[in-house]
Amino acid sequence: MSKIYLDNAATTPLTEEVIDAMVDTMKMNFGNPSSTHSFGQEAKILIENVRRQVADYLKVTPAEIIFTSCGTESNNMIIKSAVSHLGIERIISSPMEHKCVSESILDVKSRKGVEVNYIRPNEKGDIDLAKLQELLKSSEKKTLVSLMHANNEIGNLIDIKKVAEICKENNALFHSDTVQTMAHIPLDFEDIRVDFASCSAHKFHGPKGVGFAFIRKSSGLKGIITGGPQERSLRAGTENVAGIVGLGKALEISLNKMEEFSNHMQMIKDYTKDKLTEAIPGIKFNGRSAEKENSLYTVLSALLPYKNPLIGLQLDMKGIAISQGSACSSGATKPSMVMMMVLSEDQIDDCTPLRISFSHLTTKEDIDFFVNALQEISADFLVIEKTNVEHR
Ligand code: PLP
Repeated sequence: MSKIYLDNAATTPLTEEVIDAMVDTMKMNFGNPSSTHSFGQEAKILIENVRRQVADYLKVTPAEIIFTSCGTESNNMIIKSAVSHLGIERIISSPMEHKCVSESILDVKSRKGVEVNYIRPNEKGDIDLAKLQELLKSSEKKTLVSLMHANNEIGNLIDIKKVAEICKENNALFHSDTVQTMAHIPLDFEDIRVDFASCSAHKFHGPKGVGFAFIRKSSGLKGIITGGPQERSLRAGTENVAGIVGLGKALEISLNKMEEFSNHMQMIKDYTKDKLTEAIPGIKFNGRSAEKENSLYTVLSALLPYKNPLIGLQLDMKGIAISQGSACSSGATKPSMVMMMVLSEDQIDDCTPLRISFSHLTTKEDIDFFVNALQEISADFLVIEKTNVEHR
């Protein structure tokens, strides 16, 4: 059975060149980067080269890039440390953040008594920036704003530059979870004045278990994992040298081919939307995911016009890997927070969300195979739906 992978927002396959670079590192550069002998120093140089490469891409200084184990760790570190070390008393966020952000916020709320204000998005999934302004002006408390750049379930993008400006005007610190956009969209932090951002290598064909936090030097943030002086004492622990090299190689490939890859994925996304619209009468698309503006080209969030909680399993049995929402909430029986924000109660009861997410490896043939399979599954449901209506 041929297998089709359409869950690239959850994770992406590793590129051969990334694997080769990592294997070479594991074979030849096993030294501990903190050791002063040549084995250690060779490993250290590899890490520092990637740090410089990341810093050049983001137009920041290498000292502002802290390697971590993943996006989750980066976001935890930023939020928890901002409260513990920078005196943050209030956080403004939205209910659509990834769990690693929303749970970190709940943690500092319960342990440290931080006030939390949520901006509820509209049914398109947009955050009202006038509301953000209003909230920022309503209190003198030292505030951190945490708003993700692209939503991992519906792909909505915020105007990250504008949010950063609003935060600066109001003396608030700004953290953006950039896990879904890093290496997919050009990011220039000299121009976009975020204070903190996060990255996870496995979202752009790099390895799992490695990422980084961007921490603007002027913020004065400290680490939460204590121990040795690695990562400028902001994140203790021997670095994942091969993982960092893999991150660097994956970033290099993504940046060199960003235009080609993004054009391809946008074409595939448009093709998928058109094919689905033809094949499944009544299908809708969530948030801004079917639009060109303010929508990440890797994600298309569909809403099937019938209820079928087993859709993921049925597609899997036909060889198609796809998810209904974010990977960390798949398997949950309740609709995700994001879906609760963008769907009506009727849609939650009667429809099925499906997140289709692409990579530069996705082909039109993959999409044809997927749409055919979905059409077969849907045909049964749409007939049952029709029969129910007729018998009412
Ligand atoms: N933030 C967003 C928006 C994500 O999509 C994810 C992963 O799904 C994460 C954070 C967590 O990243 P990691 O898997 O590296 O912990």
